[in-house]
This record gives sequence, structure tokens and C-alpha cells, in this order.
Amino acid sequence: MSSLSQSFIQERFADYYKENSLSIMPPSSLKRREFGFLLLEKKVMLRHQSFLDAERLRAALFNVVPSDVYYSSAYYERPEEDMRNKGWLGADLVFDIDADHFPTPCPTVHDFWVCTGCGASGKGQHPQKCSSCGGTKFKEKSWPCETCLAAAKAELIKLVDVLMEDFGFSSKVLTVAFSGHRGYHVHVESELVWELDSLARKEIVDYVMGIGLEAEFHGLGRSLSLDRMLAGPDLNDRGWRGRVAKGTYDFLSAASEEDLMKTGLKPQQIKPLLAYSDEIMESWDTKGPWGVVKGISPETWKTIAQYGVEKQSVKIDTVVTPDINRLIRLSNSLHGKTGLKKVELPITGIEDFDPLKTAVAFKSGEVNVHVSEAPQFRMEDETFGPFKRQKIELPTAAAMMLLCKGVAKVVQ
Ligand SMILES: [Zn+2]
Ligand SMILES: [Zn+2]
Repeated sequence: MSSLSQSFIQERFADYYKENSLSIMPPSSLKRREFGFLLLEKKVMLRHQSFLDAERLRAALFNVVPSDVYYSSAYYERPEEDMRNKGWLGADLVFDIDADHFPTPCPTVHDFWVCTGCGASGKGQHPQKCSSCGGTKFKEKSWPCETCLAAAKAELIKLVDVLMEDFGFSSKVLTVAFSGHRGYHVHVESELVWELDSLARKEIVDYVMGIGLEAEFHGLGRSLSLDRMLAGPDLNDRGWRGRVAKGTYDFLSAASEEDLMKTGLKPQQIKPLLAYSDEIMESWDTKGPWGVVKGISPETWKTIAQYGVEKQSVKIDTVVTPDINRLIRLSNSLHGKTGLKKVELPITGIEDFDPLKTAVAFKSGEVNVHVSEAPQFRMEDETFGPFKRQKIELPTAAAMMLLCKGVAKVVQ
């Protein structure tokens, strides 16, 4: 990155931490948390920081001006010591949903690579060797695109539902936030979870994702003599039983013949599903579809219900939750890859939350930049790009996105 662009980012980040100092709210039990600052210039992490009060944390932010700010989900006796001597006391239960960790339809649209040697770029996967300079090192870029963000939000809604309905956590102990890039974080801050070890947290991951969960053991009842299904999970059932029903409902209500083929069902198994689709959908008001149509075998229902499990499985990052020393991005701090801020959102307002509006940190001014390559993206109500090797004047927030992604340079 050119030093002009680098110092431009640094100055804007410094302004942000100066002007919005009071919006930086320290996490609970501040004195027990370790902080880590990723340094803008060298991209190295300054670990084992700790602060006595909010004032000192805020002062450090505008003195250091990090590209990213993290704090430990854990509480320590001595957070400033190295890992061996910290004295682990417990940790919040944290979840990370990131569009990088589940398939979305659009990486070929917006993901691309940049050669670190010469700045040449292209779509999709990077080549073995740069055709311009022969370099072999590339940076890969993903984007906070609308489709990916909507997919992440759908996972978030499922996760919050599982945590509240199945685990019984009240909304008071849950914090939900947009990460500032391509996903969402959920924190559970409750004495009930502090002492859970890594294995216990891994079991929570398995439950949330429905790993190893077989639909046939969740209420599917068959008649051995008639070879047909007599009953199955109901939409009103609690826990995974109800989730299997809901997932099955969602799958069947949207499934085309092609979708049904993809499940591995044979044409003769699919035929009655399509022929009796009205009866099947209406049956959800009563006992569900399991025994409604004679010609559908228990095996067919098992296959479909397993798709229901897959639909309801929450796609969380499996590494984050079991890590009892995890560093988590601080709310209202800036994300070094986008210039957006991490923002908390009300649990009752997830559906209507628009990350590309609420998370915008830089609200004024324009910047002249030269963009090497960028897909189309939205910032607040305006859409920008796609760009390829062009000079353009952009509002600061849009320019910051491109500068932080390393696909643009400030020009005078
Ligand atoms: Zn190159
Ligand atoms: Zn996308």
C-alpha cells in the first residue's frame, strides 16, 4: 500500500477515535480482560494489554490508532501477563457467524485476488504466478455484499432462537453485533457459562449446528407392517424436534422438482411429493405430512427430514466458540478491512437491521482515489462500482472501504 494511502487511513482512524471516544464502551469487568491491538503499519498484534478504566482504554485507542481492537472473551486474574501466568477465571460464551464459513452464491461475483508484488488483480481464485510480474504472493479479498450479509443474518436469527428457546438464555444476557465485515457476533454473558471448559463449549457447537443429529430419532414413527410413516415431529414441538419439522416445512414449501432430485430421491419417490403437494402443505395445520400420503415411504420422509435438519443447522464458526481464550472485536471500534464499525443491534430488531447503514463510521467528505478493481457495493443508500482501473471521487466511507481492502490508492 502506498504510504499516502496508509497515512490517509491512519488519520481517518485517528479522527474517528478522537471524535467518537465516548461511544467506545468498555466490556463488562474491564480490568479482568486482555486487549489486543492490531497495528495498522506492520499488521502485528500488540497483545496482553489491560486497562483500569474506560478513560485509559479510550486514550490508548487514539494514541495507538490500531487497525483492529480486540478483547478477551475470558476473565483473568492478571490479563497483562503472558498466557501461562494470566490466571484464567472464566469466559463468556461467544459465537461468530461469518459468510466466509458457509456457501453463498456469489464468491465468483465479488471475490478476487490482488498480486502483492505489482497490484495486478483478477476474479475468483488467484493464479499460480502473476502474469504481469511473475510474483507468487496474492491477497484474496472477500466483500460484505448484500447477499452474503443477508445469508449471515438468516443464520443469526436461527442462532438467537436456539439460544433463547432451547438454552433458555434471556435477552438480557445476550449481545448481538454486526462484525463490521461479513458477519455477526453473539455473546452470552452469564455466570452459568463462565466455567464451561472447551469440550463443553464444543458440545454446544454440535447442538447448535445439529452435528450428528439424525432426524429419524426425533419423532418419526413408522408402522412396520404397513411400511408407512404414521407420525413425525410437529411444528410446535420444542427443541430439535420442532426444528426438524420447521426445516422440513421450509424445504418442502420451496422445493422444486430439481431441488428434490438433489436430495438423492428417485423420480418415483418424488412423483407423489409433487402430485400431493397441496395435501402435504395443508397437513401442517394438523398432524403434519408424515402419514398423509400413502405412496410416500418412510425412507423418503427420512431423507427429507434430514434436509430439514440441514436447513435448521446454524452455520457458526466452529473454532471460535470452544476457544476459551478468544479475542473478540470491541463494539464501536473500526474494522481494518472495511472502515466500518462493529455495532450492536437490538435483539428485537434483527430483521430490519441494515449493516451497511448503521455501521458506517465516516459520514462526511469526499476523497479522490484510483481503484484497481472492485465489485459493485452499497454504502448507506448509494451504490458504487463496479470499478476497474479508474480514478474517481467517492464519499469518504466508500473510499475507505476500497482503501482498507487494498484495492484503491489516494490520489491528489
Ligand atoms: Zn504481479
Ligand atoms: Zn456475496
